[in-house]
Amino acid sequence: MRKKVVAGNWKMNNDLIMSNDLIKSIKLKLNKKIDTDVFISPSFPFLNEAIKHCKGSKIKVLAQNVNENKSGAYTGEVSLSMLKSIGIDSVMIGHSERREYFHETDEILLNKLSNSLDEEFKVFFCIGESLKDRENDLHFDVVEQQLKNTIFRINKINFKNLIIAYEPVWAIGTGLTASPDQAQEMHAFIRKIIAEKFGDDFSENISIIYGGSVKPNSASEIFGKNDVDGGLIGGASLNAEDFIEIVNSI
Ligand code: PEP
Repeated sequence: MRKKVVAGNWKMNNDLIMSNDLIKSIKLKLNKKIDTDVFISPSFPFLNEAIKHCKGSKIKVLAQNVNENKSGAYTGEVSLSMLKSIGIDSVMIGHSERREYFHETDEILLNKLSNSLDEEFKVFFCIGESLKDRENDLHFDVVEQQLKNTIFRINKINFKNLIIAYEPVWAIGTGLTASPDQAQEMHAFIRKIIAEKFGDDFSENISIIYGGSVKPNSASEIFGKNDVDGGLIGGASLNAEDFIEIVNSI
């Protein structure tokens, strides 16, 4: 059985008080018997407190990024061991905003991915095509190439340590969502090429989640598709009611 996963990507939003208040509200509203894995991702300065506030709840804390080097002269960066030392064991890698604004290439992302898996972190690995790619009917090629340059270069992965987030760039923060059929079509494609590379057992068990303007009113239809195992939620994860409604849509 594939794990259902919903993660909130808070990006560069919220100060300490807002971050703690949002956690408290989510904690209050979250069904304690829920079977879905629920993640939130505050900014680096607030992760330590977030871990403390989430203790005893079903909410897990996810880092939005990590540096690919172990330690050293990388001013402003955060390492895996730093995250580990405050109890973080999950990290997001390859978000399109990191790829675009911070020039993170597939090569850099492969290093981040490989080091994170070596350290037994759970990785949310983001892939997805631009609007231009989709308009030129290149979306399958682009996504396949992103996988070939990164995840497919790693020999052995435990499916429990990897979550693939398909996030069409044209749907992130734009209010445009892939239709449930477009999401299903791409997720099925990803699962198929993953099966060819890592085998059926791996591909049947890995969670592939969708991200791109998911809102409470669109979540259940997208999550209802066979190959969609949950969502990576940006804007709507900053509001506890909306986030919980999305979590409950699975
Ligand atoms: C994201 O940034 O991962 C995302 C899906 O954002 P939004 O839901 O706001 O489109």
